[in-house]
Formats: sequence, C-alpha cells, structure tokens
Amino acid sequence: MDKYMQAALDEARQGLAEGGIPIGSVLVYRGRILGRGHNRRVQSGSTVLHGEMDALENAGRQPSSVYRDCVLYTTLSPCPMCSGAILLYGIPRVVVGENLTFMGEEALLRSRGVDVEVLQTPACIEMMTDFIEASPELWNEDVGK
Ligand SMILES: [Zn+2]
Repeated sequence: MDKYMQAALDEARQGLAEGGIPIGSVLVYRGRILGRGHNRRVQSGSTVLHGEMDALENAGRQPSSVYRDCVLYTTLSPCPMCSGAILLYGIPRVVVGENLTFMGEEALLRSRGVDVEVLQTPACIEMMTDFIEASPELWNEDVGK
C-alpha cells in the first residue's frame, strides 16, 4: 500500500481503538508528513475535528506556499467541511482511500481544479463498512444525518 495511505489508515485505526470514528488523514509536504490526525469528535467532544481537520491542525499554521505544495491523504472521501478547508488553503491534490461507503464533495473539489485520486483501498472500505454496521447512530451524526 502507498505509505502515506498506510499512515492515514494507522491513524484511523488508532481512532477506532480510542472508541472514535475510524477516519484518518495525513498532510504531506514534499514527501514529508507535516501533520497527521484522526477523527476526534467522540474523544474530544469536538464538532470540527474530522480526520482531515485534525491533520491540518496538527500540521500547525503554515504559509500558503506550503499548502500549495501539499498532498492530503484521507481514508474516506472528504465531507463538505473538510473539502472547504482544502479549497481555502489551496491544497492542490487529495488522495482518497475510498468513496464507496461515503461520497464526499469530490465533484466540487475537481470543479475547483483539485486533483482527486481515489484508491478504493480494500482495508479502508472494510474498516468503514464494519464501523457503520456496528455504530450506525454515531456514523449518521458524523455526516450530519
Ligand atoms: Zn470532514
């Protein structure tokens, strides 16, 4: 597996082990992981810490020149909030673990010039399928249903 997607998947599994929602993400700048994170809505009682937002937060404040040379990896197709952050900071490329269990705002991202690649990684699909089956209420809450 792609080593950055593996890192995002490791984050997602850590989130699951903490009793949270298993979505992980890493922000990569010129081949180096600047920030990594996972969904912390349950663990921190947070309204905004999706995996992608947590990775961005943990990468710290960066100049726009850095974001414009970053790739964001996420185990699941990015929701409207995270897609908004990707557009806000001008991150040009997003690599998505899977979009079968949830289709985020990929069309919006592409319409704004973001290069979105979807890997359909079996380990990501299996992890989310198992989670949604086990905790449907928690999952629906996470995607605003
Ligand atoms: Zn999100």
